[in-house]
Amino acid sequence: MNATPITVAHGDGIGPEIMAATLHIIQEAGAQLAIETIEIGEQVYLRGNMAGIEPSAWESLRRTKVFLKAPITTPQGGGFKSLNVTTRKALGLYANIRPCVSYHPFIDTKHPKMDVVIVRENEEDLYAGIEHRQTVDVYQCLKLITRPGTERIVRYAFDYARANGRKKVTCFTKDNIMKLTDGLFHKVFDEIGVEYPDIEKEHWIVDIGAAKLADTPEVFDVVVMPNLYGDILSDVAAQIAGSVGLAGSSNIGASCAMFEAIHGSAPRRAGQNLANPSGLFLGAIQMLVHIGQTEVAERAHNAWLKTVEEGVHTYDIFQEGVSRQKVGTKEFASAVVARLGQKPETLKPAVYRKLDDGGFKVPVYERRTEKKELVGADVFIEFLGRPEELGAKLQPLAADGLQLEMLSNRGMAVWPKAIAETFCVDAFRCRFKLPDGSSGSVPHEVIPQLLNRVLGAGLEFVKMELLYNFDGQPGFSRGQGQ
Ligand code: NAD
Repeated sequence: MNATPITVAHGDGIGPEIMAATLHIIQEAGAQLAIETIEIGEQVYLRGNMAGIEPSAWESLRRTKVFLKAPITTPQGGGFKSLNVTTRKALGLYANIRPCVSYHPFIDTKHPKMDVVIVRENEEDLYAGIEHRQTVDVYQCLKLITRPGTERIVRYAFDYARANGRKKVTCFTKDNIMKLTDGLFHKVFDEIGVEYPDIEKEHWIVDIGAAKLADTPEVFDVVVMPNLYGDILSDVAAQIAGSVGLAGSSNIGASCAMFEAIHGSAPRRAGQNLANPSGLFLGAIQMLVHIGQTEVAERAHNAWLKTVEEGVHTYDIFQEGVSRQKVGTKEFASAVVARLGQKPETLKPAVYRKLDDGGFKVPVYERRTEKKELVGADVFIEFLGRPEELGAKLQPLAADGLQLEMLSNRGMAVWPKAIAETFCVDAFRCRFKLPDGSSGSVPHEVIPQLLNRVLGAGLEFVKMELLYNFDGQPGFSRGQGQ
């Protein structure tokens, strides 16, 4: 077998210890790796590099396309950029995969039958980080969900399920409220799901879905969701499976991939040979599968399961009466190495199949052609006063077929219909639109002219969004209570 080039970062805190343990096990298991080592994290940040990674490290990552990363410490204080977010976005790692498995009865858990894989979209949603302050009172963060981004992640979830012999894919969204953004995620899930008749599909609104996941995780198999829900629920899932210290994760892109533990650098445990290397080790197992060294992955993973089963535990999972031997990081790794070639007796043995086509393929995105018509604008105006006063000022400004259809405050319609109790802050959304049912559109220049009339009336607009119909369907939501 040829050695596969990979890039390794030993990280901060417990990072170097758990990386040494992980590499020791997988190399003893037969992994053929040509390792390039890079420095990332605290020391790089403290040298004044706000991204925590040097340009030469990017060269290595772009060359090997496979990154095994130990946790790092982000220094306290402002200005330091999250290395994880930078790496994910720079390398286009759109899928975050976290298997959350319980190891009952060997590791304490309330959910003995749990075996869930969380597939989290990794680049979009509120994590685009596009935030603005509009007025004294109002701050805004933009939630972006795109069709190509959603198609990729949903297809990844189904392909992952198929490749790993899993039976069901569940989708979590909040599309009862966010009908366009989360609505798209749900719709794409339904569209793509049709191509996987062999896999059971279901959708849950994220709140009740999350409650169910925390209560009866054994009824879930693969769960796919947008970025924010996935961020939160993958930690919840890992924790209730037994410990965040046991979960590994992969971040997969079209050409590059990163593998890591889900926990941090645990600085208080550093340098004491105490830390549990299992999270990073299980991340490395996913890496071996990714680079096609599936037999090595299976051998190493089964030896690890056997070690856990025999009660050889680090301090964090050690339990009097269940565990047999409390060991340090190095001794744990040696215990796994000593069991290479063995399989667990009670826990389910790991089985990895080589993917015939060399792995997952990012689908070719076919952009649709739709008839897009401009039908108005939402003008956001800073205003301290009653909605009816603002309505009276704005109504005469409507022209070119547009009508002042509604004012809303924090999304709730407050004009022309209103409930006196609705609390208003200092920014109103003012919808100028062609009347419902009218055909056609307005030319773009109508909108700056409208904005100029707003300014001319002594009002300050703080933001504007255009209202489009796509193939006759509104590409904007109605006001709440409208
Ligand atoms: P942490 O995950 O490092 O630690 C949380 C708790 O879990 C601590 O009590 C710790 O001792 C324990 N723990 C974590 N991993 C363990 C292991 N392998 N074995 C035994 N015990 C373990 O989270 P934190 O304390 O909030 O963060 C510490 C640092 O890690 C911060 O600088 C943070 O920015 C960073 N961090 C990095 C990553 C990453 O690089 N991917 C992720 C999360 C946090």
